[in-house]
Amino acid sequence: MTSIRLKQFLCSLLLGAWASPAFAAFHIVLDPGHGGTDKGAVYNSIKEADLVLTVARKLQTLLNEDPHFEVTMTRDNDRGISLPERVKMAEKANADLYVSLHANAAPDQRARGVEFFFQNNLPADEDSLFLANQENQAIVNARELHSLSGGDELSKKGDIAAIVEDLRRQNRMNSSLRLTKALTTIWENDENAMQATIKQAPFYVISKTSMPAVLIEIGFISNPREAQRLQRKDYQKDLAEKIYNALVSYKEKMDNSSAKNLN
Ligand SMILES: [Zn+2]
Repeated sequence: MTSIRLKQFLCSLLLGAWASPAFAAFHIVLDPGHGGTDKGAVYNSIKEADLVLTVARKLQTLLNEDPHFEVTMTRDNDRGISLPERVKMAEKANADLYVSLHANAAPDQRARGVEFFFQNNLPADEDSLFLANQENQAIVNARELHSLSGGDELSKKGDIAAIVEDLRRQNRMNSSLRLTKALTTIWENDENAMQATIKQAPFYVISKTSMPAVLIEIGFISNPREAQRLQRKDYQKDLAEKIYNALVSYKEKMDNSSAKNLN
């Protein structure tokens, strides 16, 4: 079998394996960033860790009410949890999707809007790198990282495993981009919504998870107007609903493309 044919064959096998049957609930790991002693960004009286937990709980309620979804929270209270631990939870749950919620703060108080981050192979822009660095600070235990990333097993991989890994990465990247597009579409369809942009940066949690993943910065708590909005219950509910609607739309698209691939 030529390597291209082998790649096509493996691709069809993998697509079959990834295609979730219509009756299987779509498993989402919902990850409110920070927690415990790590409050994330703090601005005036607003703490990122508390804010994203509140929004995550509202989103969790919506997902729990929908039989098409199953949801696991990395934390559902104010407790500290390391970034590698969050990734481990998602892998253990064998989740279909990883959604991490954060809130932004910037020295320039005019900075505003929602940002959707996904991981791809392009070099990240400088602002995003800076932000990723801040969000990633909770980690760095070299040994833990080594074992989580596959340890010495990685070097033993053969050609086929490398091709499978390559296809998996491509699939993951395409799916993550599709998800961020579903999110921006929902935001663009609401003229009152804050501006929404797609960015990419090497955030730990979206780089290390093996399933499609997105990190959402729900707004800037350093922007006085946005900070006020973010504290309002109705606005928090609106954010949760928007993310939920994007997840529904993403799942539908994935189901459709799986059905096409199986036919
Ligand atoms: Zn954060």
